[in-house]
Amino acid sequence: MPTSAASFPTSHSTTPYWRNEVKPIDEHRSTEGIPSYADLVIIGAGYAGAAIAHHLLERHSSHHDQSLPSIVILEAREACSGATGRNGGHLKPDPFSRAANVLKTHGKAVAEHVASFEARQVQEVRAFVDYEEIDCDFEEVTVRDVCLYPAGRDKIEADLVALNEADISTARSLEYSSDREAEEISGVKGAKSCLTFNAARLWPYRLVSHMLEKAVSRGINLQTHTPVTSVRPTGEGSDVGLWAVNTSRGSIECSTVIYATNAYTSALVPELKDKIVPVRGTVARLLPATDAPLLNDSYMMRFSEFEYDYMISRPDGSIIVGGAKRDFYDELNEWYDVCDDSRLMKGATQYFDGYMQRHFSGWENCDVLTDQIWTGIMGYSNDGFPYVGPVNGKPGQYICAGFTGHGMPQIFLSAKAIAEMVITGVPAAEVDLPLPYHTSPERWSRQGIHGSLQQWQAVSERAATRARL
Ligand SMILES: Cc1cc2nc3c(=O)[nH]c(=O)nc-3n(C[C@H](O)[C@H](O)[C@H](O)COP(=O)(O)OP(=O)(O)OC[C@H]3O[C@@H](n4cnc5c(N)ncnc54)[C@H](O)[C@@H]3O)c2cc1C
Repeated sequence: MPTSAASFPTSHSTTPYWRNEVKPIDEHRSTEGIPSYADLVIIGAGYAGAAIAHHLLERHSSHHDQSLPSIVILEAREACSGATGRNGGHLKPDPFSRAANVLKTHGKAVAEHVASFEARQVQEVRAFVDYEEIDCDFEEVTVRDVCLYPAGRDKIEADLVALNEADISTARSLEYSSDREAEEISGVKGAKSCLTFNAARLWPYRLVSHMLEKAVSRGINLQTHTPVTSVRPTGEGSDVGLWAVNTSRGSIECSTVIYATNAYTSALVPELKDKIVPVRGTVARLLPATDAPLLNDSYMMRFSEFEYDYMISRPDGSIIVGGAKRDFYDELNEWYDVCDDSRLMKGATQYFDGYMQRHFSGWENCDVLTDQIWTGIMGYSNDGFPYVGPVNGKPGQYICAGFTGHGMPQIFLSAKAIAEMVITGVPAAEVDLPLPYHTSPERWSRQGIHGSLQQWQAVSERAATRARL
């Protein structure tokens, strides 16, 4: 069984559609060398790192009496070359399944917070994009969350009953249909149920590039191609309370460190090695012929408890679809505890050919080209929730990572919560952050098998039993 080894970003990676053309910020270094001291160092220039910088600057703008701390962002590769630069472009809040689970474990108030925290991010990001006129193809869309297996549909129905009984706000805006009606509404052949709600699609690389460009223009020092190799206390044995952030290009002394390193966090915070595990995913861009039906909505396709795809259409008529677990899930070593996004996964390359024709009514005779396929590394947390808050036992260190393949509807406000904690010193309980995200000592030290591994073992055992019968 694999255990998480130290996991740094690889130097080469597959090229995602979103990064076919990159911005000048991609290789930016604000100064020739790295500074020897900073007040605050953010490690990682993906959505989390860029959004934390954005919120630190926002808070500073609204409090003119405070001077801006010196801030450095260190990025191992190019800016936004991690998961954010290679994802599905789908900002799809989960209005039901996570809330239903939390309702059972934490009760109504926490379930409401978990659900509404995600739902609000569509409006928050839209307001930000509109205000700053960010060219990132952000558009609110209707999402069809389609379930294609009966047990899944039954669970969704049970969850909805529980959520409605508890009066969870996001359940009120869901439209539910099943069987024939679900097939008609979604256009998906064999749909057993369909939930319809509000989501968004966007070009994540462009959103993040904008945030980084603005951060740099406001005096934040961005250093790309600067992997952090370790973070250690300075003057070991003394009580100076500073951290040495060691990189391939020298060391920075600072009082505050923020890990926005998602999948790669355990390389620097080894105590999280079985709590945030790198998981490789795959995404493709499909190019339908001009006579193909128009796809306005975005989709989630649930084929089994472990297999689901996500899909958006683009303004240019192309389709971005990710998932493909059917073809590689059995091979644990292909996807679990894997940091290498420089190659495609065995099995996943053919998956996308004929995808639209297989699943969508009216597409059977259309030509659709699989234009581009790439991989990316997600940071799956052991319990499915990100770790957002202070690092236990290391004063001055914070973490915002472990978004479990679902960061787009969680990161903007998680980053705001981190910025608030860092600047004011208030605890997580006093900022807008759902309880399951907190880095409590109890959660930090909890032992047990990772949720994704546990699920894989259960699925494999069931398949082996079926094969024996
Ligand atoms: C294939 C794929 C499809 C996805 N699809 C979706 C989707 O459609 N919707 C959705 O909500 N989510 C999706 N996700 C998940 C989503 O992309 C992530 O949750 C989100 O981008 C995480 O952002 P981040 O900034 O935390 O991490 P990242 O974007 O990975 O950024 C972390 C950065 O830290 C840098 N770094 C790491 N270690 C070091 C170090 N030691 N020194 C310096 N720098 C370091 C990395 O190079 C990287 O740039 C997908 C992810 C993948 C991989």
